[in-house]
Amino acid sequence: MSARKKVLVTGGAGFVGSHLCDRLMADGFDVLCVDNFYTGNRDNIIDLIDNPHFEMMRHDVTFPLYVEVDEIFNLACPASPIHYQLDPVQTTKTSVHGAINMLGLAKRTGAKILQASTSEVYGDPEVHPQTEDYLGNVNPIGPRGCYDEGKRCAETLFFDYHRQYGTNIRVARIFNTYGPRMHPDDGRVVSNFIVQALRDKPITIYGDGSQTRSFCYVSDLIDGLMALMETSDDVTGPVNLGNPREMTIRELAEQIITMTGSKSELVEKPLPGDDPTQRCPDISRAKSQLGWSPAVALEDGLEKTIGYFKDTL
Ligand code: NAD
Ligand code: UDP
Ligand code: UDP
Repeated sequence: MSARKKVLVTGGAGFVGSHLCDRLMADGFDVLCVDNFYTGNRDNIIDLIDNPHFEMMRHDVTFPLYVEVDEIFNLACPASPIHYQLDPVQTTKTSVHGAINMLGLAKRTGAKILQASTSEVYGDPEVHPQTEDYLGNVNPIGPRGCYDEGKRCAETLFFDYHRQYGTNIRVARIFNTYGPRMHPDDGRVVSNFIVQALRDKPITIYGDGSQTRSFCYVSDLIDGLMALMETSDDVTGPVNLGNPREMTIRELAEQIITMTGSKSELVEKPLPGDDPTQRCPDISRAKSQLGWSPAVALEDGLEKTIGYFKDTL
């Protein structure tokens, strides 16, 4: 029997999940990556595939999974609006049935389990910046409901397994994260703008571009997820993980045009339904409970991400 800790990463072939697998492997864990390749792909984990301490399993988390592990990072779920709205029923099933199965697995094995929740649980927030005790403003019947309500129900399940069965849980509320391995066609703003800028194609601003987001570089997020998993068991979360530097979408477009030296022009397109007008994390809790705050400046993170898309396009 191996003395190395066995860690399950669901959604491990996706953008965030693959960076998490890299970190766990570098830190000496045995990693079981479970993914159905709905939005993830093998290229993201190609450097790990031949490592004997890494195992890839094609599996859909809406079905039961019987494996023996010490820790579970539950990331499986499409994350970009165009992907999660493609098959909204499956999105809710992935969040809800996926959480039930992974919590059942954690309950049986005694594994510690972390949920990748989201700032979307706050919906279109009326409290700004968002603190963890803000209960949110989500439209349950709108186009984002499948994702937002699925993630909210998953949080409910995590806390009920914790109260009812003593399951050792962690809930991270992740704010917009970007970096290498974002899918070039997943429609998220950072990847869209960089791809458009590098091709000198019009930059598509939805609405007037005055809505705000706060962007966290992926290595900072991974540091936060690791810190949350490793911290003492009385820290269940929810804890916001994100970068509090807030900007408008128009400012982001201008920054990317400058950094790429692009000839692209800005064009306005209709704003999608229920698009949140502002979003910025209050990270006081992550600072005090985990000693975590993001370290990568937007300019540095964008430079790495632009470099990645230059190489892959
Ligand atoms: P992603 O789409 O790149 O990764 C999701 C992964 O889950 C993919 O590899 C996909 O194939 C897999 N997956 C989807 N449904 C599955 C199923 N039923 N069974 C097994 N695997 C399945 O997205 P990401 O940006 O890496 O997001 C990872 C997690 O972090 C998601 O849970 C997402 O909700 C959360 N999150 C991400 C962000 C962000 O900005 N990237 C923000 C908030 C929350
Ligand atoms: N489950 C799983 N792997 C396990 C244990 C359970 O996938 O190792 C699934 C199981 O199929 C069940 C769900 O997790 O549907 C919830 O399990 P729990 O023990 O909480 O509930 P029950 O089995 O009583 O429905
Ligand atoms: N957005 C945009 N142009 C694009 C893609 C997105 O203006 O080509 C906007 C989108 O309307 C939203 C913000 O950028 O206001 C962030 O969108 P994303 O899909 O990346 O994430 P989310 O809305 O889930 O925060």
